[in-house]
Amino acid sequence: MFCPKCGKSIDDDSIYCSHCGSAVGRPQAPASMERRETNVYAILGLVFSLIGVMVPIVTIVLSILGYAFSVAGLHVAKRLGGEGRGLAIAGIAVSVVEIIILIAVIILLALLS
Ligand SMILES: [Zn+2]
Repeated sequence: MFCPKCGKSIDDDSIYCSHCGSAVGRPQAPASMERRETNVYAILGLVFSLIGVMVPIVTIVLSILGYAFSVAGLHVAKRLGGEGRGLAIAGIAVSVVEIIILIAVIILLALLS
């Protein structure tokens, strides 16, 4: 490659130009580089809700956890400019359906006993 400062040919893997001494190649990642934030709440909300669907014995706990995290995830999504919004809404939908089914089952069991 060529030194961007003096234009002389230098080794491809050199960090400093051997002619003028200026830093070349392998530029340090700029500190201001935007770090993409992940909406952990939205992910956890959906994960809890989905585990609740698959493992009926923990549904009562996980549906509530899933709902709580999904609602928090929706707030976080607003702050992050929409990141994880879909996940949060899916988590709320799944957990609400779980809670409704759970209540229906409890009422049914109560009626049958
Ligand atoms: Zn140079």
